[in-house]
This record gives sequence, C-alpha cells and structure tokens, in this order.
Amino acid sequence: MEPITQSLPEKSARRWNSPYDALGLEPQVSVYLTQFAYSRVCLHSVSDMDNEVGGILVGEWCLDEASQRQFIIVEAALAARHTRQSSVHLTFTPDSLVDIHNEIDNKYPGKKIVGWYHTHPRMGIFLSHYDTWLHKYFFPEHWQVALVIEPHTAKGGIFIRQANGLFDPSRYFGFHEMDGNLENSLVHWTNLTPVVKEGETSNE
Ligand SMILES: [Zn+2]
Repeated sequence: MEPITQSLPEKSARRWNSPYDALGLEPQVSVYLTQFAYSRVCLHSVSDMDNEVGGILVGEWCLDEASQRQFIIVEAALAARHTRQSSVHLTFTPDSLVDIHNEIDNKYPGKKIVGWYHTHPRMGIFLSHYDTWLHKYFFPEHWQVALVIEPHTAKGGIFIRQANGLFDPSRYFGFHEMDGNLENSLVHWTNLTPVVKEGETSNE
C-alpha cells in the first residue's frame, strides 16, 4: 500500500494538543480529524455510559512531498455493531469486521481503515495490554492509530506509533480538527488545548 500524495491541509485545520505533545515525541503520522468524523465518534461515545463501545476510523493515508511528512485524514467513523461488549473491554468479532468492510465498500469506496476508536467509561485515556495487543494484531500499519475516549469527563487522545518504533500505551497525542466551520470548533475534550496560530487571538 502506498500513501496518496497531498499537501498538509494546515490552512483548513486547527490543532489541538494533548499534555504529551510538548514532550518532543515523534509520532509517525499527524492526524487530521474531520468535524464529521469527530461528531460521529462523540455521539457514539455517549450512547452507552457504562459499557465500552467502539468502531473503525476510515479515511486516507497521505504524504506531503515538500516536507516528507506523513499524515492521515479521518473522514468517517463507523460504529462496530457486532462487538462483544463488557464494561472492561471491547473486541471486534468476525461479523463486525465483515459488516465494516461492507460498509466501507458501499459508502466509502477506496478508503482505508486508518485506525479504530473505543471508550473507557470511568477509566482514563490509556491502552490496556489487551488494547495494545489488538492494535498490533488488527491495525499493524505504522500509520494506523487508536483513539480512546472517556465519556464521563469528556476526554480523548490518540495513540500513534513513534519514529523510534515505540508504541507508548500511556502517552497520547492530539490532532488537527478539519473541515466544517472551524470558527465554531466542535472539540470539547477537556484534556486538549487549542494551539493558537500566529496572527490569531485566543478566545480563551
Ligand atoms: Zn481499552
């Protein structure tokens, strides 16, 4: 598989940093999350405040030729319907994976699975041993990511493989919010902070 060549969509995006983004870590890809995909993830996340829910992130894997930086654009989030759910973990069953591949073929032909998301009700933003195993096994590409959401405190973060090959289960990254109306950001996760671009004034 090859990335598609595309310029970084910086102009139509707004950056949200996690507390770990300032540590000088080097994620292998930057994540651009459309407002459409973000709102789908949020709606699904609060649909069950007691049990884990999750699904698949669909979009593109891209390369910005000028900077040689790789990034993904998350264009949609597909809820996994046939998951085995419990309050402590979520797994993708063969039925849910078939379902998801059919939905991608029908609605988003040619798009890639760029990662997955799931909730951690009343837990923090981290990947369990099981989550880490699932990520390695089902999402083995260096550009595939894992998004975790805590719906009670409204927190979220993205786990991304780093340049040195490390996949840290406790340090998560923020993302670029894109498309839609960036004057009215949809991002409300309390553990992320907006990065104010040069020439802009903060409304905080
Ligand atoms: Zn988990």
